[in-house]
Amino acid sequence: MDTSALQYDVIVVGGGPGGIGAAVAAARQGAHTALLERGGVVGGMLTAGQVQPILGSVAPGSFYDEVVSLLSRGHEDMPPVNTHNGVEVQVDPEQAKERLLRLLIDSGVEVYLHTPVVEVLVEEDRVTGVLAGSAVGLQEFRASVIIDATGDGSAAAMAGAEFEIGRESDGRCQPATIEFIVDHLDPERAISCWGGSDPVKLPDGREYRQVCKEAAASGELPSNVTIVRLHQTYYADERNVNATQANGFDTLSPTDEARAQLLLREQIDMIVAFLRKHAPGFENCRVKSSGAAIGVRETRRITGMDRVEDIDVETGRKRPDVVVHNAWFLIDIHNPAGGGQAEKFAQPAQPYDIPYGALVARDLDGLMMAGRCISGTHRAHASYRVMAICLAIGQAAGTAAALSVKHNCSPRQLKASLVQEALLAQGVKLFD
Ligand SMILES: Cc1cc2nc3c(=O)[nH]c(=O)nc-3n(C[C@H](O)[C@H](O)[C@H](O)COP(=O)(O)OP(=O)(O)OC[C@H]3O[C@@H](n4cnc5c(N)ncnc54)[C@H](O)[C@@H]3O)c2cc1C
Repeated sequence: MDTSALQYDVIVVGGGPGGIGAAVAAARQGAHTALLERGGVVGGMLTAGQVQPILGSVAPGSFYDEVVSLLSRGHEDMPPVNTHNGVEVQVDPEQAKERLLRLLIDSGVEVYLHTPVVEVLVEEDRVTGVLAGSAVGLQEFRASVIIDATGDGSAAAMAGAEFEIGRESDGRCQPATIEFIVDHLDPERAISCWGGSDPVKLPDGREYRQVCKEAAASGELPSNVTIVRLHQTYYADERNVNATQANGFDTLSPTDEARAQLLLREQIDMIVAFLRKHAPGFENCRVKSSGAAIGVRETRRITGMDRVEDIDVETGRKRPDVVVHNAWFLIDIHNPAGGGQAEKFAQPAQPYDIPYGALVARDLDGLMMAGRCISGTHRAHASYRVMAICLAIGQAAGTAAALSVKHNCSPRQLKASLVQEALLAQGVKLFD
């Protein structure tokens, strides 16, 4: 092990939407910031998972707006689509790999790729650093604030922070999926379908979603793949396919993850055969690419000083210590125990506030969360997990971490009003 510790003000673990928002915001607030990413690209699910479109919305002026304008540059002829799911922002994952990395580096973030965090250093009840492996060996990194943006809440769990996982009734999590892109479509005839409540019709008058259900029942599709979602991309001759589904795997276990990945990759062939047979314009479709990693929707939610509750999302509750205002997305629970949705359809939500305390670990000093691993209930998580909201959460977490360093206090002691002041100065709308 390299014994000389690398010293930063803020370390962000994980380079997905939450981590990118956090690292850019911390660096822009003047904090000496490192981002440690276990993979070879930044973007998390957005790039390595090939997840698109960016779903959800937040009040204007946040980092989400900046990322949308960055990723849609050159695609002005293809504006975001409005559906029952709200605004859908397409992404070219290849362009995103370059643009997001450039954004981080230009903002002054030191980016470490292929650097998984394997241990978190804790002294008494304070997180003080991490150990991360890379091609140069095991290295020690020290910082005043560590932000867990791993999606899985792995850094916080390594530190011993308390967490919740899965639904409250039985601990089951939403299923995993590998997304993939098919191309060689007929642009004039190819259909799109954003989900099981989209009543798109086929030329013979049947509903596409019904055809999917029948195929799942007959064995033409896996029994839990009851809808094959076909999202538009920037290119008319391709669709992003969100359909494969692995239920009941422990995706935090590396060997279970491998078994889930094999199952999901086998499903891709069945789904392509189904599309060639049933979906107009897909007769000659081919797999262009697939996520390098399986898409994990749900794992740990780290216990915070505060929590996003069901009622927040259902009623659009406003919070005095808001740091993400008017977060909105459906309560979208892909069935943990089978096909389709857990609650028949994705349930309505009202634009709600995310409080500062949901981003701050309850039990340890120096530890924050960004992205889907913040503190919330299973149903609230099913809404705030989308990328628009994760980007804005990241911005709030990074801003707060830098302010903690500046004021020489722990995030647990930092006043939410100071974070709000800084976010307002960045142009973020926080109040009506
Ligand atoms: C199949 C699927 C479909 C989805 N569809 C949509 C959609 O259409 N639209 C939408 O907006 N959202 C969608 N989502 C949700 C959204 O993609 C995620 O919830 C969101 O990306 C979470 O952001 P994050 O930054 O918290 O985590 P992630 O995007 O998962 O990023 C976490 C990053 O941390 C890194 N990491 C993990 N552990 C370590 C470690 N120990 N050390 C260093 N780095 C580490 C990972 O490699 C990764 O890069 C979908 C999710 C899935 C799984």
